[in-house]
Amino acid sequence: APPPADTAYRHNTLDMFMFGIGREFEEIDEFNAWKAAVNADNVYPFEAVRAEAQRPHLSLRRETGEQFDALSFANFNYLGLGYHPEVIKAAQNAIGRYGIGAFATPTLAGTLAIHKELEQALVDFYGLPDRGITLFSSGYGANVGSIQALVQRGHHVVMDQLVHMSILDGAKTSGAKLHFFEHNDADSLEAILKPLSGQGNRILVCAEGVYSADGDFGRLAQLTEVAHRHGAHILVDEAHSVMLCGKKGRGVCDQAGVIDQVDFIIATLSKGFAGVGGALIASRKVTEYVNWYARCRLFSTAMDPGTAGGLIKVIELGSGSEGDNLRARLHHNSQRLRDALSPHVDLGASESWIVPVIYGPDHMTFEIVDHLQRHGLDVSLMQFPSTPKDKARLRLFANAAHSDADIDFAVTTILDAARRFNFLKADA
Ligand code: PMP
Repeated sequence: APPPADTAYRHNTLDMFMFGIGREFEEIDEFNAWKAAVNADNVYPFEAVRAEAQRPHLSLRRETGEQFDALSFANFNYLGLGYHPEVIKAAQNAIGRYGIGAFATPTLAGTLAIHKELEQALVDFYGLPDRGITLFSSGYGANVGSIQALVQRGHHVVMDQLVHMSILDGAKTSGAKLHFFEHNDADSLEAILKPLSGQGNRILVCAEGVYSADGDFGRLAQLTEVAHRHGAHILVDEAHSVMLCGKKGRGVCDQAGVIDQVDFIIATLSKGFAGVGGALIASRKVTEYVNWYARCRLFSTAMDPGTAGGLIKVIELGSGSEGDNLRARLHHNSQRLRDALSPHVDLGASESWIVPVIYGPDHMTFEIVDHLQRHGLDVSLMQFPSTPKDKARLRLFANAAHSDADIDFAVTTILDAARRFNFLKADA
């Protein structure tokens, strides 16, 4: 039976600490006491250590020292390219040539030939020869830095209500006025843009390729049309979609037929690309400017050469026939997972490789994830404040390297947990 709610609440008060800043540091002691209490009950599922590359079958060690063998649906090396032998070799070669760092910021002495090669590989990958690239050392930075550079006070940012925190942080710190449209709803966007568009102030619309909490596709054709009709620009974050769909992996912008119309594409390099970093793809005059005015680029050391070298090989493999085969496998696995789970548990709007299993109450998170890890399944969890209150979910990231048997094991294990913790659909 699920644990009584009062113990469960004791475990799960994370949101309290997230907003506890500003006092005399009591929150630091409180946080550590809370974490020690949860660890003492042996249900703390965060920060477990993995000792090797995250292939589907791995072993993880909790802070308490407990160790579990598990099947991983918790990482977003979706195509497995992050540990491909040729990618590792390319990264090693780059480190051999340059050392482990770039040793300076990109605008000063930190731009290496391998960064230029990576920029060219990205331009070729997208098939947009007139575009430029601004490289960042994280996807988070790519959103924050680009948005801060593109809009200021007096401008407007109009975001899908489910955009990632990095878009929100960029918009908040830009000084622009913030607006939110209903998720994926072009009519709602239009209702916001109509009164703004006659005022002559710059408007930036922000959306995503695949939404990271819900796993649905951005309705980019409709949103782009509405944005442009009202004189707004559109930025699309393809974090969970680039390399994973569209022709040669060009993402949802390509799938939706708007790749040459979207003004600013953000390619996060940590998921399908399986490294770390981010890139803005935009007209050359824009990227020349953002190279200077994205603060987290101007004041931060350039991407490390090992990553840049590995990413160039990822692009070569991922945009070729090997990539096509891996994408086909990823799509097969995602479909198999969704088809088997959807009659029995709530998958929300999922239509991709991100398969959220929505169980609801935030206070149940630790016990459910603890149970799954003990039964050999490693999933990613998400709850308030990353989702609305009591819309907590297990996020399963399908991977091209999963076998059909792996998918079936995940389904059986999730459905056993759903029976135990009472989150089967009422009519299932
Ligand atoms: N955008 C989205 C939609 C994301 O989900 C994430 C991270 N998971 C990011 C941006 C940030 O990317 P990174 O982790 O590469 O910094």
